[in-house]
Amino acid sequence: MSTDGNPSAGFAAAGFDAAGFDAAGFDVVVVGAGVIGAAVALELQRGGRNVLVVDKGDAVGGGSTSASSSIIRFTYSTLDGIIASWEAMHQWAQWAAHLGYAQGPICRFHRVGKLHIPAPDQDLAPMLANFETVGVPYELLDAPALAARFPALELGSFHPPRWPTDPAFFDPAHGRISAMFQPDGGFVDDPQLAAVNLMDAARHFGATVRLRCRVTGVLRGSGRVLGVTLDGGQAVHAPVVVNAAGPWSSQLNAMAGVLDDMRITTRALRQTIASSAAPSTFGVGSGGTVLADMDLGTYSRPQPGGSYLVGGVEAECDPLEWADDPDAAAPTPDPAMFEALILRAARRLPDLAIPHRPAGLASHYDVTEDWLPIYDRSSLDGFYLAIGTSGNQFKNAPLVGQMMNTLVSACEAGHDHDNDPVRVACTHTGLTLDLGQFSRRREFAHTGNNVWG
Ligand SMILES: Cc1cc2nc3c(=O)[nH]c(=O)nc-3n(C[C@H](O)[C@H](O)[C@H](O)COP(=O)(O)OP(=O)(O)OC[C@H]3O[C@@H](n4cnc5c(N)ncnc54)[C@H](O)[C@@H]3O)c2cc1C
Repeated sequence: MSTDGNPSAGFAAAGFDAAGFDAAGFDVVVVGAGVIGAAVALELQRGGRNVLVVDKGDAVGGGSTSASSSIIRFTYSTLDGIIASWEAMHQWAQWAAHLGYAQGPICRFHRVGKLHIPAPDQDLAPMLANFETVGVPYELLDAPALAARFPALELGSFHPPRWPTDPAFFDPAHGRISAMFQPDGGFVDDPQLAAVNLMDAARHFGATVRLRCRVTGVLRGSGRVLGVTLDGGQAVHAPVVVNAAGPWSSQLNAMAGVLDDMRITTRALRQTIASSAAPSTFGVGSGGTVLADMDLGTYSRPQPGGSYLVGGVEAECDPLEWADDPDAAAPTPDPAMFEALILRAARRLPDLAIPHRPAGLASHYDVTEDWLPIYDRSSLDGFYLAIGTSGNQFKNAPLVGQMMNTLVSACEAGHDHDNDPVRVACTHTGLTLDLGQFSRRREFAHTGNNVWG
């Protein structure tokens, strides 16, 4: 979500064009200036490599990052997913320190908590066991406890999620919900500014950024990447290239010819985010929290300034709109999806205003088969993947930079990551992350959407 008066928009005009650009002397080309590419650039540059970031767009963070709901939460179905999100939360909480350089506005992590309302058939026990292992605090709240803590919420169960055209949509509630609250959840108030902060820091440490530069080819020879070509024909030679192209990642993988050994692939999926005004009793600082409502098939949160955003969780009744070319789709919300989202959210929050016409935005997730990301090398030496973020990796971006720096350093030093996965030490939590979990060649044990645990 791009927020009101977004200070990051000014970055677009800052003269990062390809004109007059000397393409020699780079150790790394990062393709994509979203929050992932910016985080990767920062850590690789800080790690001692000379980094060039190229993006076809005209602003840092102007791709799918700008549409992100930027929710910070820990509800993942895998232990490593929980470890990563818990570690990264600490980085958002100390954002200026994490950046190591900050001038001008920086984004803010609002720790408003997060309430997870499970579907009636969701067994939370395995996830709670992982929370105990990692040390992530949570509270289980029954309906009376919820009524006391969140009086703005209607506590009936409406499961399963439906479309407003379904005659049963407005049926009365059956049963009452219970939920799990996590006090350390919340959101970052400006996702595009987060990318700009990371990129400003990367530039401070010496990285170069070129906007309005589309990568049109990947140079390769003798099983190794040699660089990229840009529209206009310019070649940039570098021994390492990182695919951080977000929903366009599959196009870049096809250019690089690395799809051959990928058991996990990526595909763009269109998303609508509905926007309204936050109820006065559920705003930021007035009782509002992040809601993941599996009972109704929505997630939602308030935004500083008084708006309220609602997204979907790929409920069974919701059609999936896959996109071969994300650039071909309008950035405006799908009217039918808008209506479904806002009306479902209003069943939980009866004071939510229903706008007269669709308000919000549309963008794309970069989705894998198991909805977990790929942070890995590829079959082409020197070509790395930070992709498949599946609508749930904004929160991990600062850590992803560190993961990719550790991975690139190990692989470029000859480490056989495919057979002996690299591990990353998490400095805030003292935990260790097994990067083998994010392999392009992993067996995926899960079915369906793992985004929400
Ligand atoms: C609607 C929505 C809501 C979300 N909500 C959350 C949330 O609440 N919490 C959470 O943790 N995550 C969330 N996510 C996911 C998170 O926002 C994304 O995982 C993250 O922003 C992806 O960042 P990225 O840098 O990989 O991609 P992008 O920001 O899309 O950046 C990729 C960049 O690559 C550039 N590019 C592509 N191809 C080329 C090329 N050939 N040449 C040059 N440049 C190229 C593009 O122009 C683009 O700028 C959400 C995502 C969406 C879309």
